[in-house]
Amino acid sequence: MNADATTLDEAAGRRWDVVVIGAGPAGTMAAIETARLGASVLVLDRAAFPRAKVCGCCLGAAALDTLRGAGLGDVPARCGAQPLEHLDLRAGSRRVRLRIPSGAVISRRALDTALLDNAIGAGARFIDRCAAVAGPCRGEARIVRARRDATHVDVSARVVILAAGLRARTSPPAAGTSRIGVATTLETRAPTIAAGVVGMACGEAGYVGWVRLEDDRVRVAAALDPDAVRRSRGVTGAVRRVLAACGHEGLHDLGGTRWRGTPPLTGPGAIIGAERLLVIGDAAGYVEPFTGEGIGWALASGRAVAPIAVAAATEPAWRETWSNAWRRSHRRMLGPRHRACTFVARTLRRPPLTRAAVAAAALLPGVAERLVAAFCAPPGALENGP
Ligand SMILES: Cc1cc2nc3c(=O)[nH]c(=O)nc-3n(C[C@H](O)[C@H](O)[C@H](O)COP(=O)(O)OP(=O)(O)OC[C@H]3O[C@@H](n4cnc5c(N)ncnc54)[C@H](O)[C@@H]3O)c2cc1C
Repeated sequence: MNADATTLDEAAGRRWDVVVIGAGPAGTMAAIETARLGASVLVLDRAAFPRAKVCGCCLGAAALDTLRGAGLGDVPARCGAQPLEHLDLRAGSRRVRLRIPSGAVISRRALDTALLDNAIGAGARFIDRCAAVAGPCRGEARIVRARRDATHVDVSARVVILAAGLRARTSPPAAGTSRIGVATTLETRAPTIAAGVVGMACGEAGYVGWVRLEDDRVRVAAALDPDAVRRSRGVTGAVRRVLAACGHEGLHDLGGTRWRGTPPLTGPGAIIGAERLLVIGDAAGYVEPFTGEGIGWALASGRAVAPIAVAAATEPAWRETWSNAWRRSHRRMLGPRHRACTFVARTLRRPPLTRAAVAAAALLPGVAERLVAAFCAPPGALENGP
């Protein structure tokens, strides 16, 4: 990865077929696929790479399947990803251990860097520490307003792919209606945290997940009610409350932990497609992390948007059919997943119901494992053409 291969002045000095804002899984997958289709591609990210990301770091079957479909099936293993085999689910005194059909654990620093390397390898150019916003359309292009340190430039693109994550949603959720995400990495060697198992504790304040990473450290990620965080005098207090209510002993010593957080999680991206603008990944809408699908959704949308973006970039005039095609494809691919995830998220807000569901899963693990497998299935096939 060479963050300085393209300077901002160079980037502003030409017209790009595609400018991708955001180098998470959605943006890098879109960059890989559009570059492979022959487009000139520029990726901009406001973070210094490699960068951390609030995430539980679990790749579900859908994410792995999309990577394989893009010829990147070896990426997780090359990064040192560990296989994920079981889900250890707890709610109050109820507990069940379920098999996961296919999954892997990999830190986002490793995964996102590897995907970015592949984008650059496919021919995309990259500038990090560069904050960008999609500006107005001008002539046969859309303007991207980009800033790196004190330098401000306008970059011109036939098509802009907005992949800038939760904060880029055009219609963020109202405060108080959504949980927030937090995550940290611990150095603990606690034997209660086995490799290959994702633990999940559900409680009044939200839910907390933990998993052993490829470097043996433990990743802890949670979705919490902001009110519960206030009442618990901070994230650590809220996480401790959830864990203690489930009788978890391995993670109690969280004193001094530094958490990274997200804005409110659940919300639609009001704009999925507009003139010379296609929105993907979390920026196009997100629910909650419980089902561990966000990376899979991001990769799938990055892959699916590419043929539309490249077809649109080859024509001087914008046709409304391009944005309509992307809206339709996005809805068809992810609408059912978002609805299922919303249903799960609502259940999790009712602790007695959650405890009953975990108890039922313990009684009928075969049925519960089939449900888990259904959640892990790849998103439905897409119609990519307009
Ligand atoms: C607590 C928590 C746990 C989670 N656990 C899992 C899990 O285990 N498995 C899973 O599959 N998903 C999980 N997710 C969801 C997953 O992290 C996201 O769905 C996924 O990262 C979305 O990818 P993306 O590319 O759309 O956005 P991101 O990964 O957020 O990438 C967006 C990029 O855009 C950049 N950016 C932002 N603004 C700008 C700007 N103005 N200009 C330029 N660049 C910008 C950012 O720096 C970032 O690099 C979790 C989420 C949370 C909150």
